[in-house]
Amino acid sequence: MEILLYPDPKLRVPGEDVKKITNEFLAKTAEMFRLMYEARGLGLAATQVGWPVRAFVLNLAAEPPTDQNGGQETICINPRIVGESGRCNEEEGCLSFPGVRGNVVRSDKVKLEYYDEKGRSTVIEESGLPAIAIQHEMDHLDGRLFISRMTLASKLKVASKLKELEAQFAGEV
Ligand SMILES: [Zn+2]
Repeated sequence: MEILLYPDPKLRVPGEDVKKITNEFLAKTAEMFRLMYEARGLGLAATQVGWPVRAFVLNLAAEPPTDQNGGQETICINPRIVGESGRCNEEEGCLSFPGVRGNVVRSDKVKLEYYDEKGRSTVIEESGLPAIAIQHEMDHLDGRLFISRMTLASKLKVASKLKELEAQFAGEV
């Protein structure tokens, strides 16, 4: 398993609902956490590792949880945003876009319904950074990438970096 990089077409493939939480499923999410920490990220969607299911992992500490960092590992399975409000405009990055950061306008608060790794139906309400991360990962599950939501100024700023990534993917560099 590895994190796919833009413009890998697999990043655009939407995830399908998870039918059953098996040991294999849990082993794959554990591997996703490992890759996410290695890349110093705080969220990773299954579609970003070429696994087209509706699940993402989150840990705002961006490193394995300890007593000191206050980190918490969350696995969101078949998640749905059931409420959102407010507006924010913050800079985001994405593990599938190394070196690319840009501003995205999103809801400031979201209410998310999902199943956890034990299959328990869970509802959380978040605002600020966790709310942004949730919306970013939800987009991944639909095959949608953050560059399509960037403000025009950010799109212009990252255009040359995207061209670089496209050339690398095509094997031209
Ligand atoms: Zn991303």
